[in-house]
Amino acid sequence: MLYLFDIFRKDEIILKETHGRTRSTAELFRRFAPYFKPYVPTLILDLFCASLTTICELALPVIVRYVMNLAQYNLSALTANLIVRLGVLYFVLRVIDTAGSYYMANIGHVMGAKIETDMRTTLFRHLQKLSFRYYANAKVGQLMARITSDLFDVTEFAHHCPEEFFIAGVKIVVSFAILLSVNVPLTLFTFAVLPIMLVCCYKFNRRMRETFKESRWQVGEINAQVEDSLLGIRVVKSFAREEAEEQKFAEGNERWLAIKKRNYFWMGGFQATTRAFDGLMNLVVLVLGCVFLLHGAIHPGDFVAYLLYVQTLLTSIRRIVEFMEQFQRGMTGIDRFLEIMDEQPDIINAPDAIPCEHVRGEVDFEDVSFSYEDDAGEVLGHINLHVDAGQNIAIVGPSGGGKTTLCNLIPRFYDVSSGCVKLDGVDVRKLQLHSLRSHIGVVQQDNYLFSGTVLHNIAYGRPEATREQIIEASKLAGAHEFISSLPNGYDTFIGERGVKLSGGQKQRISIARVFLKDPPVLILDEATSALDNESERLVQQSLEKLAHGRTVFTIAHRLTTIRGADKILVLTEDGIAEQGSHEELIAKGGIYKELYSMYSDMR
Ligand code: ADP
Ligand code: MG
Repeated sequence: MLYLFDIFRKDEIILKETHGRTRSTAELFRRFAPYFKPYVPTLILDLFCASLTTICELALPVIVRYVMNLAQYNLSALTANLIVRLGVLYFVLRVIDTAGSYYMANIGHVMGAKIETDMRTTLFRHLQKLSFRYYANAKVGQLMARITSDLFDVTEFAHHCPEEFFIAGVKIVVSFAILLSVNVPLTLFTFAVLPIMLVCCYKFNRRMRETFKESRWQVGEINAQVEDSLLGIRVVKSFAREEAEEQKFAEGNERWLAIKKRNYFWMGGFQATTRAFDGLMNLVVLVLGCVFLLHGAIHPGDFVAYLLYVQTLLTSIRRIVEFMEQFQRGMTGIDRFLEIMDEQPDIINAPDAIPCEHVRGEVDFEDVSFSYEDDAGEVLGHINLHVDAGQNIAIVGPSGGGKTTLCNLIPRFYDVSSGCVKLDGVDVRKLQLHSLRSHIGVVQQDNYLFSGTVLHNIAYGRPEATREQIIEASKLAGAHEFISSLPNGYDTFIGERGVKLSGGQKQRISIARVFLKDPPVLILDEATSALDNESERLVQQSLEKLAHGRTVFTIAHRLTTIRGADKILVLTEDGIAEQGSHEELIAKGGIYKELYSMYSDMR
């Protein structure tokens, strides 16, 4: 049976947009089972209700057959008493049916939603663990699709498929048995066409699924494009590229429409074919049944019941065939879910990791080499650097020289390819990740602000901070004044990514955030580069206050701001080209002097 499902899935694999390996249906089931396990009792009850409703449904033709046969052969037995009893029986059956259907529709769906919640939580937790390296290559739009619509498909499958397959299976077996018991030759004649119908259904279903999968992929593309255009809406507008974006979007949409048209072409064919075969079988039953009636080979009551059972059986077969689509969707959803779950976070705690205690802030790079990909060239090669606690190190050099990369190794955003980075003499890979990162503050050029209030953003790294502490941090960051003048002060909503604030304001909020965190080691990565002169001056003042008493790595392209640094490193693609104080490097007359005079000329 599972093998059959695998054949169904073969086409999808071709269309798979990811590099992920192919998982067999058996593996998908095995990996999905743990999410289902807690709900097995609910499912059993669900299937029990499904059996009850099925029995109730199958009972009607039995009663009809009984009454019809009485009417024809033993009318006097059809007493008022019997009619009442039959009525009560049928009434009770319908009550049971109603209760069972309610359970299935309510509890069954709730079970599905619970599984969805569990899986989504697991997926999100896993996404939080994945490192910079993973996100450098991931598409957020694609991840979002997986965490929402894909999982919905999974739970629809989880809830409906066992139920539907079970109901339809029971109905098919029972009604086929009854049909055989009623009249063997008629049954054999009628179902001679069934194998042909199944083959046709299979073919159509396959085509439908191909196009269905394609359309899902295209929806993913549309999602990604919407995300890109909207996140970049300010760039779109500033370059007056709205029309081009619309055009691009229209193309994506058109492609989707074309796929959908093909999808519905096959779906229409599928539905029409199954109906045609349906009709054909009914035709056989009708004509042959009449012939049988004529020759007294079947009782009229049996004939009516027979017709009703044929309908039940046909509907069930059709349902199973149709349900293959939902089954496939579910399988695809699980597959896409597992694709992310199988991504291993590459930055994790060592088994014997220790917490950082009383961090002074001494940092060492010992023969550090680093490359982003195994097969890519080295970005950093054999870097050696000692930084005393409380020292202020400035890193300068051409863009792409590896300044950011170097600093990213301290909080383990990436791990070294060889050598080691030490904090207070301990390899950072031996420290607990959470503890390590809580001792390092990073201010970048473009810090992410969450949509929420100013307060919420400043307290991000220390949610337990009091309002007074937050205000104190803002004062140190030079942000208190402008925050107070916002419409709702600290409770002002700053919009998505802080769009309602100026660059300098955003930057001072990020600085307040780090002030509140109060880390002994600080990384300032071009923290003022994006700002105008006035904002830069204000932010620079805040940063100087922030830097006080900490080990600071300052990456700056404005060389005047780093003149006072204890040590200046010139980092080029060939490694550390020069290091020393401003005066030493100027006296040396090397790259730094060149950069410095170039910069002075520009001013
Ligand atoms: P800098 O900060 O000095 O301008 P970076 O450290 O950002 O330079 O980049 C150093 C080199 O590493 C550049 O050539 C850049 O293209 C490359 N690089 C940066 N980030 C990544 C990444 N996530 N994946 C692959 N290469 C990267
Ligand atoms: Mg950089």
